[in-house]
Amino acid sequence: MEERLKIYNGQIVTPQEIIKNGSILVADGRIVAISEGNIDATDAFEIDAKGRFISPGFIDIHVHGGAGHDFMDNTEEAFLAIANLHARHGTTTMLPTTLTSSRADLLETLATYELAEKQNSNGSQFAGMHLEGPYFALNQAGAQDTRYIRNPEASEYEEILSAFACIKRWSAAPELQGAPEFGRYMTSRGVLVAMAHTDAIYEEALEGFKNGFTLATHLYSGMSGVTRRNAYRYAGVVEAAYLIDVMDVEIIADGIHLPPPLLKLVYKIKGPGKTALITDAMRAAGMPPGESILGSLKNGLKVIVEDDVAKLRDRSAFAGSVATFDRLVRNMVTMADVPLLQAVQMAAATPAAIMKIDNKKGSLVAGMDADIVLFDEDINIEMTIIKGKVVYEARK
Ligand SMILES: [Zn+2]
Repeated sequence: MEERLKIYNGQIVTPQEIIKNGSILVADGRIVAISEGNIDATDAFEIDAKGRFISPGFIDIHVHGGAGHDFMDNTEEAFLAIANLHARHGTTTMLPTTLTSSRADLLETLATYELAEKQNSNGSQFAGMHLEGPYFALNQAGAQDTRYIRNPEASEYEEILSAFACIKRWSAAPELQGAPEFGRYMTSRGVLVAMAHTDAIYEEALEGFKNGFTLATHLYSGMSGVTRRNAYRYAGVVEAAYLIDVMDVEIIADGIHLPPPLLKLVYKIKGPGKTALITDAMRAAGMPPGESILGSLKNGLKVIVEDDVAKLRDRSAFAGSVATFDRLVRNMVTMADVPLLQAVQMAAATPAAIMKIDNKKGSLVAGMDADIVLFDEDINIEMTIIKGKVVYEARK
């Protein structure tokens, strides 16, 4: 017999509008109906939303860790703990993300993903791996380990991709030697290619876009803006992301990596259909302030977490975000004056479209996976539901 679930008495965030008092019916992990008022479904398990928002679950396409773990710790325990932490904050789907590392460490992370994915029953679901590095510009390395940064080599990336079908996204610098071939190859294999840690000028970024680099990774962070060389002024990757209308961007909307005026500017120029929110969270997300490690326990960098962000120990630069997804949505509403409907779009439908999983995820529409979060006016997560199963409920 099919299992049916009904959530009623809530404000439903649909792609077009917020239904003030609606209900949603789920059967066998999928949404079967959404309606104003209370759907009649006598045999369904019922949840009273008590006037809260009923929203599509958040989709984080760039996240490294949380709850004291990093995906590159290379343990199944770490993968599952990170997935569970972020599910409590509204993320129902995520792309575990690597950092630039040795080839051996990277292969181990990919192998660990495959093991952990099978056991992940109560956390944010894994939608494939995102490789951040190692093909980056040295002078935009940021906190990426410069010992392993190099140019793309077809023999290397073709072998890695053929061994691990879980790779769904790869961030690289488009101006490197070999990058156009890399972009075309990955795109032909269904891998999303993003420009990251790049020092490209506009013309190089445009060339990259034509070769498949269709997303800007953490816009503004680790990328070129306007520069001057011998008196002449050049546009950079930030300007390319703005000028190429169909290019997607993702932003670390923790309110620190990008202060409110920049959140507003990105929203104003790119709009909610081309902007995805990301946490880019490192292991200290969901942990108290103090010392932490960016990257793997074995090879990572000691950092300090204070003022809701990770910093290098000399405090000269940020070393990762400690945001959870609820905070991103809250920030877009309170800091950037974005309506909740559009903030949720940037948290769910847009990242789903970027990853081409929007036929199943990212919006509350009949036929879609029942990945649903309930939250109050301040975006405090009250309940997380993944494929029709309650995986988290806030304690009363
Ligand atoms: Zn990252």
